[in-house]
Amino acid sequence: MTSLSLVIPFFNEKQSLPELIRQLYDAMDDPELQRLFGAPFSFEIILVDDGSTDGSTALARTLCASKPELRLISFQRNFGKTAALTAGFRTAEGIVVCTLDADLQDDPASIRPLAAKLFEGYDLVSGWKKERMDPPGKTLPSKLFNAVTRIFTGIPIHDFNCGIKAYRREVTERIELHGEMHRYIPVLAGWNGFRITELPVNHRPRLYGSTKFGSSRFFAGLFDFLAVLFITRYFRRPMHFFGMAGLISFLSGFSISLYVTLDKILNFKPVSNRPILFLGILLIILGAQLFSTGLLGEMLSTSAQGGNRYTVKETGNLSQQQEAQLRDH
Ligand code: UDP
Ligand code: MG
Repeated sequence: MTSLSLVIPFFNEKQSLPELIRQLYDAMDDPELQRLFGAPFSFEIILVDDGSTDGSTALARTLCASKPELRLISFQRNFGKTAALTAGFRTAEGIVVCTLDADLQDDPASIRPLAAKLFEGYDLVSGWKKERMDPPGKTLPSKLFNAVTRIFTGIPIHDFNCGIKAYRREVTERIELHGEMHRYIPVLAGWNGFRITELPVNHRPRLYGSTKFGSSRFFAGLFDFLAVLFITRYFRRPMHFFGMAGLISFLSGFSISLYVTLDKILNFKPVSNRPILFLGILLIILGAQLFSTGLLGEMLSTSAQGGNRYTVKETGNLSQQQEAQLRDH
């Protein structure tokens, strides 16, 4: 059985790869790390090539041929970091899974402290780039992003999108990532009830190549944030969201219209030149639409097949068939 799977997504990181592999092997050749896992210690390094075009693929292939612990998954084209992580998670066989960026910004020496923290009784330990070696154009928006996510989700960590993280394999098997949701893995894990913590890690400046996430990341990040929020909070009960919004809108519109009507009946004010009437009508229609959207969502989510509504921690004395039944629903 494999003790530790390292999952490394990369996209055009030719210059960093050989050095990264060297550092990873160095980090694995550490008696203290091996003691943590208990004998016999074994590891695998899953390189996920996210459609590189700079020759990284050929390089990774050559590296793989010479080292039995290296695995390579090469995508047909660039599908994004989330997809690359998903492929790595699906193939990882280790009891512990650790992700790292391929650009040498994450320090492989952090793997041991992260794993040690995990064994203290956590399911996910996220790295925290406390002293971040990136330009301010990147660190400032990231601070904002982290603060907003922390407030909305109540998960008390500082660096949601840190490339280096250690997981128990149950976590990576359980969470489903879409879009560019790798930024929100701790949110999804937290929603499933996994225990999450963080640990400051050494962060290094990028030596080779360039960052793969331009300014479009802010919009992608924003929409994915809304999606994650919706999925974790309202996916199974859309009516709670749309129904409430619809009700508020409908009642406000109704009150406005009632007021205009009563004003006409009691005070003989003409209805025709009252702009607020339009607001009333708008809110009533909007309310009804939101309400019916909620109803449709409710119908969809009730009739949807599969889709786990719970995450099982452990079972006792269940037959294999019972286990399978339990996992299927
Ligand atoms: N990456 C990837 N696919 C992409 C973009 C990035 O696999 O479409 C990898 C990239 O090669 C690196 C990691 O994700 O190993 C983090 O990317 P980057 O260093 O560019 O992000 P930053 O550190 O600038 O946030
Ligand atoms: Mg980087």
